[in-house]
Amino acid sequence: MFQFNYVKAKSLSEAQALIAEHPEAKLLSGGMTLIPTLKQRLAQPSHLVDIGSLPELRGIEVKGTQLVIGAATRHHEVATSAVVKKALPALAALADQIGDPQVRNRGTIGGSVANNDPAADYPAAVLALDATIVTNKREIAAADFFQGMFATALEEGEIVVRVKFNLPKRAAYEKFAHPASGYAMAGSFVAEGSGGIRVAITGAASGVFRWTEAEQALGKKLSAEALEGLPLDLSNMNEDIHATREYRANLARVMTKRALQKMLAG
Ligand SMILES: Cc1cc2nc3c(=O)[nH]c(=O)nc-3n(C[C@H](O)[C@H](O)[C@H](O)COP(=O)(O)OP(=O)(O)OC[C@H]3O[C@@H](n4cnc5c(N)ncnc54)[C@H](O)[C@@H]3O)c2cc1C
Repeated sequence: MFQFNYVKAKSLSEAQALIAEHPEAKLLSGGMTLIPTLKQRLAQPSHLVDIGSLPELRGIEVKGTQLVIGAATRHHEVATSAVVKKALPALAALADQIGDPQVRNRGTIGGSVANNDPAADYPAAVLALDATIVTNKREIAAADFFQGMFATALEEGEIVVRVKFNLPKRAAYEKFAHPASGYAMAGSFVAEGSGGIRVAITGAASGVFRWTEAEQALGKKLSAEALEGLPLDLSNMNEDIHATREYRANLARVMTKRALQKMLAG
């Protein structure tokens, strides 16, 4: 690890000021991604600005037709929240599948969406539910937020404050987890909302994406059979020592079928 200064921000405005004052500073939330990055000397921030326990970034509540979750809310809190389990059980189930108990007790939803790992779970729910990412500067629609592998619409020093999920009529998430890390080899979030069916796939490609062919097919026939033989663009699929493109595409299809069946079963 390179040397750095650690500052625990006492308020969002103090965090903003620190980030503005030190251009080489980095925000620290749960540290589950950033700390390993520092340990491998892949980043050399001058300061770590800890926002992980800021009151402005915490909390879970239903506001009208939305579920609002503060950026520093930990995965375990989402997984076990009575509010989330009642309003959006698929999201509680998703959070409960992230990594392991240590990761779930430290990692945060804000850190996860800001990091935008192509195999992370939350981005699938954020995109499928057409959520809004609220930052200290603006509101960003999910469709504009995720911009490919580890890339987002966040500007330098911009802080995710909360995520607002539109509540669907029903939804479900299924993933095929990598046995070592728990990250999704492929995961599918299926949601039925007022605008119809939305399907978001994570883990399979360079970034989370909507499987629009599946959405259209399921709009006509809400059954797993509708997914048979549907095209899934292989050119963008990940291929590595763990799985070929074809294997990941097949996993994405199977996870979508399972998520659909889970959603239909209630
Ligand atoms: C062993 C292991 C297994 C894992 N398995 C899974 C898994 O199965 N599924 C999954 O989805 N994830 C998994 N993760 C990742 C985990 O979910 C992390 O919690 C997440 O990627 C980052 O969240 P964090 O709060 O720890 O962020 P940090 O590590 O603190 O930060 C990550 C990045 O986001 C930035 N950042 C943090 N918060 C904000 C904010 N509010 N606004 C703007 N930028 C911010 C930081 O500056 C940094 O660049 C795993 C991690 C580990 C170590």
